[in-house]
Amino acid sequence: LQTKLPKVGTTIFTVMSQLAAEHGAVNLGQGFPDFPVPDRLVQSLEAAMRAGHNQYAPMTGIPALRQAIAAKALRCYGAQVDAESEITVTSGATEAIFNAVHAVVRPGDEVIVLDPAYDCYEPAIDLAGARAVHIPLDPQTFAVDWERVRAAITPRTRLIMINSPHNPSGAMFSAEDMRALAELLRETDIFLLSDEVYEHIVFDGRRHESVLRWPELRARAFVVSSFGKTYHCTGWKIGYAIAPPALSAEFRKVHQYNVFCTFAPAQHAFAAMLSQEPEHDEQLGAFYQAKRDRFRQQLLGTRLKPLDVPGGYFQLVDYSTVSDLPDLEFVKWLTIEHGVTAIPLSPFYETPPAGQRLARLCFAKNTATLDAAIERLAKL
Ligand code: PMP
Ligand code: GLN
Repeated sequence: LQTKLPKVGTTIFTVMSQLAAEHGAVNLGQGFPDFPVPDRLVQSLEAAMRAGHNQYAPMTGIPALRQAIAAKALRCYGAQVDAESEITVTSGATEAIFNAVHAVVRPGDEVIVLDPAYDCYEPAIDLAGARAVHIPLDPQTFAVDWERVRAAITPRTRLIMINSPHNPSGAMFSAEDMRALAELLRETDIFLLSDEVYEHIVFDGRRHESVLRWPELRARAFVVSSFGKTYHCTGWKIGYAIAPPALSAEFRKVHQYNVFCTFAPAQHAFAAMLSQEPEHDEQLGAFYQAKRDRFRQQLLGTRLKPLDVPGGYFQLVDYSTVSDLPDLEFVKWLTIEHGVTAIPLSPFYETPPAGQRLARLCFAKNTATLDAAIERLAKL
């Protein structure tokens, strides 16, 4: 068989979760919360099923949910979004990213990706017959060098993909970054895909620079988010994309024949949740900041060196004082010999920076889980 995705194997998240299970390790690898989803959401899901919302939803998503997403965009970012023509509910952010790429990217095009990049970006680009052009972020601060991005633009550049708060580093774009990006794209017809799944998990009073706040960028963008991160339910796989009507129309052509529509009961549950408990997302930053701070303090008592975490629910640690193993070998050793599972950074890169000794730990966990991990990490 001549494979269409020769570089793709099993994802690092699956590999590490399996290894964690085999060795009974505390799994801080794959990013998922180990605490329950809000009660109201479970009750609303059950109520939706009992009320008979078990058949196909409208292709673009149920109107009540699209209206609730539009209200949230206005409340959080001051953005006027038309629920009818600009919002599409998807099966997770992953489907939204796939659709957005396939909606605009043609064979032979180039797509700019900032490394380290979340793992689903490049396969979508490859399947579209295009080429990912990888620009490395600063290996310590994970800041973007916009001049390097500018230098990578060619007449074939069709799309640029950004992600803030960033997985795996937690780095966030500043208003200055948004201005630089707007300036860079101004005279071009390049589209923008903004992956904002960690939009509500931001710390220390920072402001999430959603593309929805920046009209000039929004006019050419797909803004993607996921309820999995915000409502502790990564397994429900409900997300959405916001894009101007013409882009949404193309996006929906792909969505229509990819899945047609998304799990109907959960759409009703999120519509209820968003309208009845809008403060949930506003409290999420403080909720995770307490976890981040406690975990960081505990890590300072180990030989791992925690990096700063502006947003998201991952803590990067520098393990160079513990081991000189390359990161994939290190995280396997840590799982097997010390019973704690992390994610290496190298799978997020086309070319991992030489000598980088960083691993990612997920702190979207109960205190007891984090304490159990720290007890083991303290023995390194
Ligand atoms: N983008 C990023 C940066 C992510 O971390 C994730 C999930 N972990 C996704 C997209 C995919 O989100 P979903 O699970 O809703 O498909
Ligand atoms: N996004 C999650 C992470 O970064 C993993 C999702 C998955 O397993 N595909 O850990």
